[in-house]
Amino acid sequence: MLSDIDIKTRSQIEFIDITSQVQGVIDKSGIKEGVCSVYVPHTTAAVTINENADPDVIRDIITRLNEIVPLNGNYRHTEGNSAAHIKSSIIGASESVFIKDGRLILGTWQSIFFCEFDGPRSRRVFIKLITQ
Ligand code: ZN
Repeated sequence: MLSDIDIKTRSQIEFIDITSQVQGVIDKSGIKEGVCSVYVPHTTAAVTINENADPDVIRDIITRLNEIVPLNGNYRHTEGNSAAHIKSSIIGASESVFIKDGRLILGTWQSIFFCEFDGPRSRRVFIKLITQ
Protein backbone atom coordinates (compact mmCIF):
# COMPACT_ATOMS: atom_id res chain seq x y z
CA MET A 1 0.00 0.00 0.00
CA LEU A 2 1.33 3.43 -0.97
CA SER A 3 0.07 6.51 0.84
CA ASP A 4 1.04 10.13 0.87
CA ILE A 5 0.93 13.09 3.21
CA ASP A 6 0.67 16.68 2.06
CA ILE A 7 2.76 19.20 3.97
CA LYS A 8 2.71 22.98 3.75
CA THR A 9 5.93 24.42 5.08
CA ARG A 10 6.02 27.95 6.44
CA SER A 11 9.70 28.82 6.71
CA GLN A 12 12.76 28.61 4.52
CA ILE A 13 14.25 26.03 6.85
CA GLU A 14 12.21 24.02 9.32
CA PHE A 15 11.78 20.50 10.66
CA ILE A 16 8.20 19.27 11.02
CA ASP A 17 7.33 16.29 13.22
CA ILE A 18 5.25 13.97 11.00
CA THR A 19 5.29 10.93 13.32
CA SER A 20 1.58 11.06 14.16
CA GLN A 21 0.64 11.36 10.48
CA VAL A 22 2.84 8.39 9.57
CA GLN A 23 1.39 6.37 12.46
CA GLY A 24 -2.06 7.37 11.20
CA VAL A 25 -1.35 5.72 7.85
CA ILE A 26 -0.41 2.51 9.68
CA ASP A 27 -3.54 2.72 11.87
CA LYS A 28 -5.71 3.12 8.79
CA SER A 29 -4.08 0.15 7.07
CA GLY A 30 -4.58 -2.23 9.97
CA ILE A 31 -1.07 -3.59 9.43
CA LYS A 32 0.42 -5.05 12.62
CA GLU A 33 3.92 -5.99 11.55
CA GLY A 34 6.23 -4.89 8.76
CA VAL A 35 8.38 -2.04 7.58
CA CYS A 36 7.31 1.57 7.07
CA SER A 37 9.32 3.36 4.43
CA VAL A 38 9.04 7.16 4.40
CA TYR A 39 10.20 8.84 1.22
CA VAL A 40 10.50 12.52 0.28
CA PRO A 41 10.35 13.13 -3.51
CA HIS A 42 12.05 16.52 -3.38
CA THR A 43 15.60 17.70 -4.06
CA THR A 44 15.59 20.47 -1.46
CA ALA A 45 13.87 18.63 1.41
CA ALA A 46 14.65 15.51 3.43
CA VAL A 47 13.48 13.22 6.20
CA THR A 48 15.27 12.29 9.40
CA ILE A 49 14.67 10.67 12.78
CA ASN A 50 15.82 12.56 15.85
CA GLU A 51 14.88 13.92 19.27
CA ASN A 52 11.39 15.26 19.89
CA ALA A 53 11.74 16.22 23.57
CA ASP A 54 14.09 19.19 23.57
CA PRO A 55 13.41 21.51 20.60
CA ASP A 56 16.94 22.85 21.00
CA VAL A 57 18.23 19.62 19.45
CA ILE A 58 16.50 20.44 16.16
CA ARG A 59 17.59 24.10 16.47
CA ASP A 60 21.19 22.97 16.97
CA ILE A 61 21.01 20.63 13.96
CA ILE A 62 19.69 23.47 11.77
CA THR A 63 22.26 25.96 13.13
CA ARG A 64 25.16 23.60 12.50
CA LEU A 65 23.86 22.63 9.03
CA ASN A 66 23.72 26.33 8.16
CA GLU A 67 27.32 26.73 9.35
CA ILE A 68 28.49 23.74 7.31
CA VAL A 69 26.43 24.72 4.25
CA PRO A 70 25.80 28.50 4.29
CA LEU A 71 22.86 29.85 2.29
CA ASN A 72 25.15 32.05 0.24
CA GLY A 73 28.37 30.59 -1.03
CA ASN A 74 30.37 30.16 -4.17
CA TYR A 75 27.67 28.02 -5.80
CA ARG A 76 27.20 27.60 -9.55
CA HIS A 77 23.55 26.40 -9.65
CA THR A 78 21.68 29.37 -11.09
CA GLU A 79 18.41 28.70 -9.26
CA GLY A 80 20.16 30.03 -6.16
CA ASN A 81 19.22 27.21 -3.80
CA SER A 82 22.33 25.04 -3.84
CA ALA A 83 22.58 25.11 -0.05
CA ALA A 84 19.14 23.45 0.12
CA HIS A 85 20.15 20.80 -2.40
CA ILE A 86 23.32 20.02 -0.43
CA LYS A 87 21.45 19.79 2.91
CA SER A 88 18.88 17.51 1.27
CA SER A 89 21.63 15.12 0.23
CA ILE A 90 23.38 15.26 3.61
CA ILE A 91 20.18 14.33 5.52
CA GLY A 92 18.71 12.02 2.87
CA ALA A 93 15.39 11.37 1.16
CA SER A 94 14.13 8.33 3.08
CA GLU A 95 13.92 6.54 6.40
CA SER A 96 12.66 3.06 7.25
CA VAL A 97 11.05 2.19 10.58
CA PHE A 98 9.87 -1.24 11.74
CA ILE A 99 6.26 -1.79 12.75
CA LYS A 100 5.33 -4.04 15.67
CA ASP A 101 1.84 -4.52 17.13
CA GLY A 102 0.59 -1.86 14.73
CA ARG A 103 2.98 0.78 16.06
CA LEU A 104 6.15 2.36 14.71
CA ILE A 105 9.12 1.13 16.72
CA LEU A 106 10.62 4.43 17.77
CA GLY A 107 12.61 5.21 20.89
CA THR A 108 10.95 7.32 23.56
CA TRP A 109 12.64 10.48 22.33
CA GLN A 110 12.54 9.75 18.61
CA SER A 111 10.27 11.38 16.05
CA ILE A 112 10.20 11.37 12.28
CA PHE A 113 10.87 14.86 10.95
CA PHE A 114 10.19 16.28 7.51
CA CYS A 115 13.07 18.65 6.80
CA GLU A 116 12.39 21.75 4.70
CA PHE A 117 15.45 23.50 3.30
CA ASP A 118 13.92 25.74 0.62
CA GLY A 119 10.51 26.77 1.86
CA PRO A 120 7.90 27.82 2.19
CA ARG A 121 6.48 25.29 -0.25
CA SER A 122 3.83 22.63 -0.71
CA ARG A 123 5.47 19.26 -0.15
CA ARG A 124 4.56 15.60 -0.28
CA VAL A 125 5.80 12.59 1.63
CA PHE A 126 5.21 9.04 0.41
CA ILE A 127 4.72 6.18 2.84
CA LYS A 128 5.02 2.55 1.77
CA LEU A 129 4.04 -0.17 4.21
CA ILE A 130 5.75 -3.48 3.52
CA THR A 131 4.39 -6.62 5.12
CA GLN A 132 5.22 -10.28 4.83
ZN1 ZN B 1 17.74 24.20 -7.38
